[in-house]
Amino acid sequence: MKKQKLIILGSGFGSFSTLKGVDTHLYDVVVVSPRNHFIFTPLLPSTTVGTIEFRSIIEPIRSAKENITYYHAYCTGIDAEKNSIHCKNALDGNEFDLPFDQLIIGVGAVSNTFGIEGVEQYGLFLKELTDARAIRQRIIENFERASTPNLPFEERKRLLHFVVVGGGPTGVEFAAELHDFLTEDLVDSYPNVIPDVSITLFEAGDALLNTFDAALSEYTIKIFQRQKISVRLQSQVAKVEADDILLRDGSRVPYGMMVWSTGNTQTDFVKSLPFERDRGSRLLTDEYFHLKGFKHIYSLGDCATIEGNLLPATSQVAQQEGYYLAKCLNAVAKNRPVKPFIYHHRGMLAYIGSNRALADLPQVKGRGFSTWIFWRSAYLTKLVSWKNKILVVFDWMKTFIFGRDSSRF
Ligand SMILES: Cc1cc2nc3c(=O)[nH]c(=O)nc-3n(C[C@H](O)[C@H](O)[C@H](O)COP(=O)(O)OP(=O)(O)OC[C@H]3O[C@@H](n4cnc5c(N)ncnc54)[C@H](O)[C@@H]3O)c2cc1C
Repeated sequence: MKKQKLIILGSGFGSFSTLKGVDTHLYDVVVVSPRNHFIFTPLLPSTTVGTIEFRSIIEPIRSAKENITYYHAYCTGIDAEKNSIHCKNALDGNEFDLPFDQLIIGVGAVSNTFGIEGVEQYGLFLKELTDARAIRQRIIENFERASTPNLPFEERKRLLHFVVVGGGPTGVEFAAELHDFLTEDLVDSYPNVIPDVSITLFEAGDALLNTFDAALSEYTIKIFQRQKISVRLQSQVAKVEADDILLRDGSRVPYGMMVWSTGNTQTDFVKSLPFERDRGSRLLTDEYFHLKGFKHIYSLGDCATIEGNLLPATSQVAQQEGYYLAKCLNAVAKNRPVKPFIYHHRGMLAYIGSNRALADLPQVKGRGFSTWIFWRSAYLTKLVSWKNKILVVFDWMKTFIFGRDSSRF
């Protein structure tokens, strides 16, 4: 039997889980993604300060599975009638077409700036390893600049004011990691400027971690107060300038680094596709992940939504969808029946600094030090390869014994 050509767009949680599960004896698998590795994003905030090293949480696509083809490219268009996609090499822009029998769209989403002036230009984001590296670099640069003798006090305070915008899990975890870096490592390397450091977290709503249990959300605010992280709820950013953030209430806040983490929006690619989408521009699918009206094109993860069953944009959802889709594709190739997708919510975890974490699980709510141990164990089991698990354990041990590295290069 001739193998069907299966193209998978993207190398994130949804696409990677499909890739891992799909049988290459049944399909001729081609992956197209501008990122040649998978990133375990739940531990990405830890890489911004060096608690974990960048390469410890990634898995190269080319070695993730045998007998697959990978193209380091963006998909820029889909012709659903001719069953072909148009691609652009992510490095040199060379264009090419690829035919497919089955296509999976798992291209994720991008950070939402809400069109606020200056965010794109002056803010840093936290979605990719390049973002984490830029953050780590900027923290050290600001400390080195702030250590210049005779620098005016106000300028030193500005350089050392670290702002996080967005009180969801990513913003909270980044603020927590930054706090640990300051209090456990930079305090010894930069003792003269440490008293001038401040961290502020702006959140437009009236709670942090609003998808978590209310008691856990309040606990986080209490811990952040103790850690001297200033939490400013109901604070909306109106404009960002090179040295100042302007809030809706008219106040002006000098800052040295701003990390923007206020949720997702769809990519221009997804918005350009000629398929049905919901109000948030996510691709509409049925409960088997077929795009509406197409039995050979699937979509999953942050760029898609099952009609009538809105699931959160999380790795947990994308991963379960990917494993399900791989099983489905394997079954379909053998003419076996498939059942619709059912999501199993296993709960949410978040790190909040000073060796404390939160666990909002269906059966139990946990917080504090023991939950931090659980948080670490849970992510260790979820990392996608033995290599990653071993590297992460070594990184944690290295950080515990020697501290985090603050070199600039
Ligand atoms: C810092 C951070 C921490 C997080 N922590 C958690 C957590 O603790 N728990 C949790 O459940 N979720 C967490 N998430 C959310 C989770 O990472 C996402 O929900 C998940 O990655 C979505 O998977 P996906 O496959 O849809 O997209 P992604 O994982 O975003 O992957 C999209 C892929 O598509 C590729 N791509 C983009 N455009 C194109 C194109 N035109 N053609 C081809 N490929 C393309 C990208 O390069 C990428 O490889 C976190 C996210 C971040 C950023």
